[in-house]
Amino acid sequence: MAAVQRLLRAAASSSSSGAAAATGTRRMTGFAGAESRGRRPAQDRNVQWVFLGCPGVGKGTYASRLSRLLAVPHIATGDLVRDELASTGPLAAQLKEIVNQGKLVSDEIIISLLSKRLKKGEEKGESGFILDGFPRTVNQAEILDGVTDIDMVVNLKLREDIIVQKCLGRRICGQCGKNFNLACIDVKAENGLPPIYMSPLLPPKNCMSKLKTRDDDTDEVVRNRLRIYNEMSQPVEDFYQKQGKVLEFDLPGGIPESWPKLLQVLNLEDQEELKLATA
Ligand SMILES: [Zn+2]
Repeated sequence: MAAVQRLLRAAASSSSSGAAAATGTRRMTGFAGAESRGRRPAQDRNVQWVFLGCPGVGKGTYASRLSRLLAVPHIATGDLVRDELASTGPLAAQLKEIVNQGKLVSDEIIISLLSKRLKKGEEKGESGFILDGFPRTVNQAEILDGVTDIDMVVNLKLREDIIVQKCLGRRICGQCGKNFNLACIDVKAENGLPPIYMSPLLPPKNCMSKLKTRDDDTDEVVRNRLRIYNEMSQPVEDFYQKQGKVLEFDLPGGIPESWPKLLQVLNLEDQEELKLATA
């Protein structure tokens, strides 16, 4: 499909400039913008959605469930980076250095990984996508706009104090490696705000004595992560807000509470019934 080829060319033209990130970025945006034509109309393809939401909100869970329901790939840039790191691909060495130095992976590398992933999908006959963790910057959003259409941006929201509580409740079993959550969120309705309930995810007896907390799940680190996310994501939200594409969704609780509500908001209840009926 033409969109992927344009994305690939945009990525190729930028990565050839190597260290000159700022110049490469400008050229990439201009290049992609000039090439924006020949898109597939929405009715001839599957959904092309972007999922936004801060770390700990459960964005990956909802994006992945929806992708299964709609039969579109769930593309998480975090996974793309991890997969590339584990591979012997041409970018792996470069990525390892960046990650080891604690730096952010550049737009150019992310775009290049994403276009590789989309191309592979297209070859397998995939249509549409749900993007998770991309675009992270306005520059990335502009590049994406230059090559393909985004139909909708779902912005998942949850009160910060609850996200912090949830993150602090996370545990991992030192033996089997499974994840659990000891936090039980039960906030009563107050000041016109709806109640929020999220049940804990308790471990079986065998794991109970082997639970560990991740080093980066401290109150300070979690709040800092949220602050950085908010600073970075606000311009991206504004960018899509101006296009009238943002659907804000306040999570009413955990998955059992939120999933049906999300389907209702997205007008997908019938889809799920159909899927369940034919499963
Ligand atoms: Zn265990």
